[in-house]
Amino acid sequence: MINPVQLLKDNQIYAGKELGQNFLSNPDTARMIVDRTGIDGHARVVEIGPGLGALTIPIAKKTRHVTVVEKDRRLIPLLEEVLENHEIDWVRVVNQDFLKTDIAALAEEKKLVVMGNLPYNVSSQILFQLIRTRDAIDKAFLMFQKELADRILAMPGNKAYSRLSAVSRYAADIRRVVDIGPGAFFPKPAVDSTVLVFDFFPSRPFSRDMEQRLFTVIKAAFSKRRKSLKNALVGPDLGLDKPTITQALKSAGIAPERRAETLDVPEFERLTRAVDPFLNE
Ligand code: SAM
Repeated sequence: MINPVQLLKDNQIYAGKELGQNFLSNPDTARMIVDRTGIDGHARVVEIGPGLGALTIPIAKKTRHVTVVEKDRRLIPLLEEVLENHEIDWVRVVNQDFLKTDIAALAEEKKLVVMGNLPYNVSSQILFQLIRTRDAIDKAFLMFQKELADRILAMPGNKAYSRLSAVSRYAADIRRVVDIGPGAFFPKPAVDSTVLVFDFFPSRPFSRDMEQRLFTVIKAAFSKRRKSLKNALVGPDLGLDKPTITQALKSAGIAPERRAETLDVPEFERLTRAVDPFLNE
């Protein structure tokens, strides 16, 4: 089995903080995560950041349709060697920044299952990208720092409820799969990690344009989360003045004194419909 510590040492490669490199070093944990996804031989899997293949190996043992996207060029020959040692020759390895990858181009006749122990420094960006391109995705099993996972899962009214929670809840049903302690990784992170599953809704309630507006409204509302909505929404994001915002909130049935952290997704949707005519002016 792969020993990331030895493999990195032998090749004089240092795990890079800027690439969020905390490699799973416990193969039982990696196998358990993949088992919990329930994928079978029909699944088309895209793995984000395969690193040294800790998750890739158990994924490739379940299905022959696997593409992995790794940004760090130094890791590619090591990953290929690891796959070869396991006699796995059906994984497509792409050396690319996932943030610049067109995921729709990777989907063929079937929607994708996306997996990844995400680099923590870009995990929110990756999640937003997956949400934007979710037409090509069935489910995503993603590992985050536990604190970020808790923020994504938070419900309205909770202090941790955030822009990321509202946008994620609009696009998917989200559940916690498992929490994992620092001991399963090398180098050991300072915090716990959590795997979440995003079950993307098959249809979109809004057109793409309206969806973009919804995301802008959510962003604007949370940019000043301690202020009431009538004050928070005034500013460059929407470009609307306070009387217009107040009118839109009232016509959406939302008290202007409320704060972003109290609004559920249907309320954000109503608010977006209410501000939309003013944005078109
Ligand atoms: N999947 C491996 C594991 O569980 O051991 C590695 C996980 S490590 C937390 C994150 C991986 O993502 C690293 O291999 C890192 O080089 C890679 N990575 C970082 N930024 C990336 C990006 N923008 N696109 C693709 N891969 C990236």
